[in-house]
Amino acid sequence: MPEGPEIKRIADELAAALAGRKITRVFFTFKRLHRYRKKLTGAKIIAISARSKAIITRLDNGLSIYSHNQLYGRWQILPEGDYPQSSRSLRLAIHTKDTMALLYSASDIEVLETGRLSQHPYLKKLGPELLDENTTTEDIISRFEDTHFHRRALAGLLQDQSFIAGMGNYLCCEALYISGIYPAARLADLDRKQRERLARNCLKLTRQSYRTGGITNQLKRANALRKQGVAFEDYRFYVYRRDGLPCYQCGATIIKERFAGKTAYLCPQCQPVCSHTRSHH
Ligand SMILES: [Zn+2]
Repeated sequence: MPEGPEIKRIADELAAALAGRKITRVFFTFKRLHRYRKKLTGAKIIAISARSKAIITRLDNGLSIYSHNQLYGRWQILPEGDYPQSSRSLRLAIHTKDTMALLYSASDIEVLETGRLSQHPYLKKLGPELLDENTTTEDIISRFEDTHFHRRALAGLLQDQSFIAGMGNYLCCEALYISGIYPAARLADLDRKQRERLARNCLKLTRQSYRTGGITNQLKRANALRKQGVAFEDYRFYVYRRDGLPCYQCGATIIKERFAGKTAYLCPQCQPVCSHTRSHH
């Protein structure tokens, strides 16, 4: 499932291809959206941006297209009219004079008044966005100090978009690893310094992943491995999907375990079970 950085990169690509252009035609599979075909034709695309895992396409007529890729949704940007062979089902097509953007398989698509976006049930409950440049380190740290969130296992909490928006499973595993925190630990089990370090690492890794196209590993190491011919999937992470392999820091074997309904990858030596966590486990 794509996480914040992957969705934001898709939004960037869509914006580069479509922002500033006029919609010549729009196609919606869903009947409930047919009434918007006429309303959107001729409108200019002002901006395309990501909010957590949703993509918002803003138009100059006061309307916005909201789409959420969920598990299978996939965007494709192509020259106008150049339809690809695809076994996926087309759900939305935005046509401009030279370029078209096609959204396949996603079912969560809506057209909304831009002024009412903040009332949308998904957008309304999002926590602070790690990938929003206006979000500061202090915003994230104060979120981690909010005791309302202190009693849930971090393996689940960090992926809850209403706590902080932008992280999914791989970012969660990687942030816990570099912070030396066991995935079943709760914010209540950490001291202030540990919470602050974790908050900083969540922000740092999510932004690094966005900038680098998905690398959370130390960049120096990732570069060295790449030069040795190691494949991207094998050098991008510290622990994610590296079960059975040695930890880069201590050499212990990375393991895979389930916590709070999520699969976590961790180093048992760098992320020890703390005494608080043990009593709750
Ligand atoms: Zn280790």
